[in-house]
Amino acid sequence: MTVSEQNVPAEQGLPEQNLPDSAVASDPTDALSPVPGHTAQNRAPSTGRLRYCYGPMDCGKSTLALQIDHNHARQGRRGLLLVRHDRSGQPRISSRIGITRQAYEVGADTDIRELVRAQWAAGHRLDYLIVDEAQFLSTEQVEQLAELADDVQLDVYCFGIATDFRSRLFPGSQRLFELADELQPVQVDVLCWCGAAGRFNARVQHERVLRAGDTVLVADTEPGQSTPGGAKQAGTEPAAEEPQNVRYQVLCRRHYRQGDLGATAPHGQLRLA
Ligand SMILES: [Zn+2]
Repeated sequence: MTVSEQNVPAEQGLPEQNLPDSAVASDPTDALSPVPGHTAQNRAPSTGRLRYCYGPMDCGKSTLALQIDHNHARQGRRGLLLVRHDRSGQPRISSRIGITRQAYEVGADTDIRELVRAQWAAGHRLDYLIVDEAQFLSTEQVEQLAELADDVQLDVYCFGIATDFRSRLFPGSQRLFELADELQPVQVDVLCWCGAAGRFNARVQHERVLRAGDTVLVADTEPGQSTPGGAKQAGTEPAAEEPQNVRYQVLCRRHYRQGDLGATAPHGQLRLA
């Protein structure tokens, strides 16, 4: 089965003259009016939605991803969980508060449409996708997600970090900002050491903020775990520098710019949760 074969147009409704008055736009020039053929019983959106929830590290994105999955599953909807470079090193979505769920690891060359087709081939209906660490997706993979939302009506929930340690958009995040139907900042519980909202992920080595290096370097964020061997390098992208003693710390923009890690909390960040 191909993607297009499941694309059943939603506008195969009643002839226009049979429409109830409420379904007909009173102003035909209104760009937001229902298209002809939509009936009151046929108002379900004919495309899925592509959403991107983004925020700094430790802001609870993975927890939110698992909560959304739980909410949908409870409604009898079927979803597929995907992850790119999960911090656990396993194909699963893991939150730092201890909840985990198995997920499919998306590789650098994975065609996400093929993953969906494989689910169909196995007889599984799919209503939604949840993608964690979506900043690491390629631009092509983000475009595949948009295609799945448009053509086979999958609801796609992406979770990730907007900017890298240089404060530049990750390529995957950039494409999501360009294509997503909804952008949702997640800023629930991460503060800079000064108390301001933490928006930037500083890469720290030997208590200095690094400004250059490879974009993808998966390292620990917990104090005391940034020991040699504790930081792990992301699978396929080699890092030029030694990953040892590299950690990430969330800072506000001012302290990110200044490279100020805070005198009283050299390793940590204030957290509300
Ligand atoms: Zn600050």
